[in-house]
Amino acid sequence: LLSVRGVRKSFGDLQVLRDISFDVPAGTVTTVIGPSGSGKTTVLRTLNALDRADAGVIRVGDVTVDFAEPVDRAVLARLRAQSGMVFQAHNLFPHRTVLENVIEGPVIVQKRPEADAIAEAKELLAQVGLAEKADQYPYQLSGGQQQRVGIARALALRPQLMLFDEPTSALDPELVGDVLRVIKELAAQGWTMVIVTHEIRFAQQVADQVLFIEGGVVLESGPPAQVLGKPEQARTRQFLRRIL
Ligand code: ATP
Repeated sequence: LLSVRGVRKSFGDLQVLRDISFDVPAGTVTTVIGPSGSGKTTVLRTLNALDRADAGVIRVGDVTVDFAEPVDRAVLARLRAQSGMVFQAHNLFPHRTVLENVIEGPVIVQKRPEADAIAEAKELLAQVGLAEKADQYPYQLSGGQQQRVGIARALALRPQLMLFDEPTSALDPELVGDVLRVIKELAAQGWTMVIVTHEIRFAQQVADQVLFIEGGVVLESGPPAQVLGKPEQARTRQFLRRIL
């Protein structure tokens, strides 16, 4: 479903992504680990066209973009529409209810009928365990609940691919479990997902494939039992020793 080839990205003089290549088959989960500043968030942002790659080819579903060529806005918008993104901290609209937050994208951006969007939003809120919070405002929810609304909001756009950027890193430890459980349920339902995470146990449990990113390249990739269990690269072993 997703294929990334030779993606490069610099911010000024800083080359953050040197040569990123990987594939994510439909219905599988890829977790991305690596040291702070290694470029994990930037990878997700280029997939979602929030940052524009300097070079390389990104294909999501039937949208292929070659960043070595001039790329127009309409193509970037099509690429962006393929994926839903959940950020470190939720970015809900504070003055809208939970339900209004979830239907915003389908109604305003996708011009779907409001009644349909509401019905679907209610199902999604039930799925993330927040059916009874539909009429509350974000400030009335815990951080973990807000994060789950963020997940429902991304799902409401019916993306092909879900991208998560450290979805639990801003949460109190006791709130992490509920968010990870929701993500595991999505995996079980067959969603294709790429998840940047520092939760190594979670990365192990949920992933079909783990990417270890360091210095702007995928240094090691494979099934969790290999990358996390028997890493080949000394740098991967060193990283895992430090965080486990
Ligand atoms: P962390 O685990 O700490 O979130 P990361 O692996 O996700 O790190 P990125 O957030 O992708 O790393 O950042 C990689 C590097 O790119 C960092 O040095 C960061 O300062 C730099 N960077 C990211 N975005 C920008 C930007 N918009 N402008 C300038 N530099 C940036």
